[in-house]
Order: sequence, then structure tokens, then C-alpha cells
Amino acid sequence: MIVMKFGGTSVEDAAAMERVCEIVRCRLSSKPVVVVSAMAKVTDQLVAMGQAAGRSDSDSALAMSRAMRERHYNAASELLGTGLFTRFHAELESDFNALDELLRGIAAVGEITPRSTDAVLSFGERLSSKIVAAAFSAHGINSALVDARACIITDTTHTRALPLFDEINARLLAQVQPLIQQGIVPVMGGFIGATLTGTPTTIGRGGSDFSAAIVGGGLNAERIEIWTDVDGMMTTDPRLCPQARRIKEISFDEAAELAYFGAKVLHPATMLPAIQKNIPVHVLNSRNPKNEGTRITARAPHCRNAIKSIAVKKRITIVDLVATRMLMAHGFLRSVFEVFDRHRCPVDMVSTSEVSVSLTIDSNEAIPAIANDLQKLADVKYAGRKAIICLVGENVRETPGIAGQVFGSIADVNIRMISQGASEINISFVIDEDDVPRAVQLLHQKFFAEVDPAIFE
Ligand code: ADP
Ligand code: ASP
Ligand code: MG
Repeated sequence: MIVMKFGGTSVEDAAAMERVCEIVRCRLSSKPVVVVSAMAKVTDQLVAMGQAAGRSDSDSALAMSRAMRERHYNAASELLGTGLFTRFHAELESDFNALDELLRGIAAVGEITPRSTDAVLSFGERLSSKIVAAAFSAHGINSALVDARACIITDTTHTRALPLFDEINARLLAQVQPLIQQGIVPVMGGFIGATLTGTPTTIGRGGSDFSAAIVGGGLNAERIEIWTDVDGMMTTDPRLCPQARRIKEISFDEAAELAYFGAKVLHPATMLPAIQKNIPVHVLNSRNPKNEGTRITARAPHCRNAIKSIAVKKRITIVDLVATRMLMAHGFLRSVFEVFDRHRCPVDMVSTSEVSVSLTIDSNEAIPAIANDLQKLADVKYAGRKAIICLVGENVRETPGIAGQVFGSIADVNIRMISQGASEINISFVIDEDDVPRAVQLLHQKFFAEVDPAIFE
């Protein structure tokens, strides 16, 4: 069997869902399980609705919900035709009524918690998966809707819940495997799950890719397909650099590194189940399904270019610590990391000197509290609006002088921190967010003016 995941733009309206029907139809002999995101922008809108309700502004929340209801009804009626839609309408209606009731409840309390946020967000994928499953049936594809909340069981860390793999795998075998064996296409929402007691959870923004990989891992898929709005993984984000080229083949390690350092095309956790079970991941374009996309496998063929791709992670804060008292006494770094651990805040890059440490973290609301705790250990300064640029490729480890080429090509960009070596396949550094477009274009020009035709297109 294979897993096919369709992102938000791939299910953004009736026309996009029609394309999904055709793409899936062509793969029926591979026994697909289909995982879908919410329709494009819906998750952002649900976040906004929850926040409005949290401010007791139920009028705004309900107005947004009405517009969303309209959009889903339109897509469904266009896909199903009036006859089928009349029967299906009641199902969507009861979901939207439940959403409105939830929003009114949140507005009455005047507070939105991570738990109620997840309840609100869960509607995006619940609705899209329902419509896609109905569209499959209307288009003659034998399909069944599977409620992700009954399969994707997580811990209770709302908004970024961690999957409980043993529990999930048992449920996938019990609920999804039999459908596949009967020739039915299971359809489920990505991104959402539930706790062991059935409370809805979400696994982090952009998490439908991860859901697809969890399902693929649990069912030992032959392949995980990530269908999106670009031709595959590219040499950089095409929105930043229109000259970006498609990468035909890339290794698990390279793709994982790129995803971790901001290549939004894959959620950073996607590669974990794939690597564990050695399942190839293909990134494909639902608007251009004939294109071969990118194949991500354990070993990629040799590439003549020094690097494969440039990733950018924005919204980074640099934290500088100057240890006046402890002068790098042993145990100092441990105490520093304990602070980040206490705030459950991952650190991306670290660099040290005799008396100072610089670290980068994702910008977040807890930074003042983190700085306050760090103040007890050292003098603290922090600055936001930074970005990590990360150049990835397996050749990095054996290309002499690569750092010189990188920094030489962006000589007039102010570089705040550098890291090379931790993984041997990346060079990363921190710059101001405002310098990102220029730096990426210069680097792209330097490293991809000529490309190895076996690897890039
Ligand atoms: P989906 O809704 O299908 O999950 P996303 O918006 O999450 O799609 O991811 C696709 C987007 O990722 C692309 O439109 C592109 O702008 C962005 N992106 C960033 N880095 C890369 C890259 N290296 N290769 C391809 N796309 C990238
Ligand atoms: N709909 C979710 C989001 O926008 C999950 C996803 O699209 O992968 O974050
Ligand atoms: Mg995505």
C-alpha cells in the first residue's frame, strides 16, 4: 500500500478536489490511504475564530465561521451535484453547528486554552476529509472516511501533541488495514488526533505531512507521497528565488535537515517514520501530476554540485549570554540548557567562546520569561527578527573551501553566528531577516548557476 497526502492548496476548492480524485484514481492498484489537510487557509481562519471567541467577540468569530461554512458548502455542492449534496448537507451542517456552539462556549468563558484551540482547529481536517471522501464516492472510487481522532492517538500536549506510536499502530491495523484489504480507499484528516480519552489534539502546524508519515510507518507503506503546490523539493523556496530548480533525488538525511531548517514543503518530523522503516517519500505537484517530483530515499546518487538546497528558517531570536561570574565553570552550559528545557524551548544553534554563549531559538512568547531565568546565570541580551540560512548537501563534508565560497558570495551581509560540522552535511548561519532575499539569491546564483543534470532539473 501507499500513503497519499494532499496539502491545503491541493484541496482548496472543488476544482482542486477533482484533481485529487483523478490522481488517486490513477493509483488505485497501489492501494492508497489518503490523508488530507484542511482546505487552504482554513486552519489560519480557525485560529483567528478561536482568538476572537477568546476575546468574547463572538460576533466576529461567528461571522468568520459563516463564511467558512459557505465555502465548504459551495465546494461540496459543486463536487457532488445537487442530488448527492442534499443528502450530504446535513453532515456538514451538524459539524458547523458544533463549531459555532464551541465558539459561543469559548466566548462565554472569554478564554481560549490550548485544549479548546485544538478542538476548534480539528474542524478544518474533519470537514475537508469528509468532503474528499464523499467526492471519491461520487466519482466512483470506493472509499471510507476514517476519523483521525480514533487512530492518531497522542499525549496531552495540546497544539503540538506527540504521537503514541504503539497505540496508533495497533489502531491503524485494526481500523485501516481491513479497509485496504477490501479494496476500499481510506480517507482521513491529517494534523489532528486525540488523547487516549478522546479529547481532540493537533500535532503542530503543517503536521499533515507528519500524519501521512505516521500512517505510512504504521502500515509499512511502500511509499509516502506528499502532494503539494510545487514540483517537488527545490534548490530553495521558489517564493524567495524564482530560479529555484527541482531536485530529482535527495537522501533522507538531507531532506530531514532541510525540513528542520525551514523548508516548509515538508514538516520537520515527516522523515522520522520514513527513516525508521526505510520508506521512500515522494514530493509531487497536484497541479502538475505528470512531473516526477522529488524522490527521497536512504541513499541518493552522487551529485556534482557541492550543495543540494538552501533552507531558510525565519522568526529566530538570538540569545547572547555573557558569563561574568561563572566564566564557563563546569556545569554552566548544563544550567543554561536546563532553563530552555524547563520552558520546553528547543535550541537550534549554539556557539561558545571563553566567556560567552550564543544560542538561537524560535521566537516565542516565553522569551522574556526565559531571559529572566537566564539572568540568574549570566548577563543576557536577545534580539529577534533573525533568520537561519542553512545550506545542505552530502558533499559539504568533502568539499574543501566550501565555507569560503559560501561567505565569499555574501561578503557584504552581516553574519551573526556560524555553525558547520554538527551533521557534516550542512553549513548554517544567522543573518537579519531583512537580508534574507538578497542572501538567498546570491547563494543560489553561486551554487546553482550550473547544475548536475542527473540530480536537478
Ligand atoms: P501544503 O499545503 O501542500 O502542505 P506548504 O505550503 O506547507 O504546502 O509547502 C509548500 C511550499 O513550501 C511551497 O509552496 C514553497 O513555497 C515552500 N517551500 C519552502 N522551501 C521549499 C523547497 N526547498 N522546495 C519546495 N518548496 C519549498
Ligand atoms: N492544516 C494544518 C495547518 O495549516 C496542517 C497542514 O496543513 O499540514 O497547519
Ligand atoms: Mg505543509
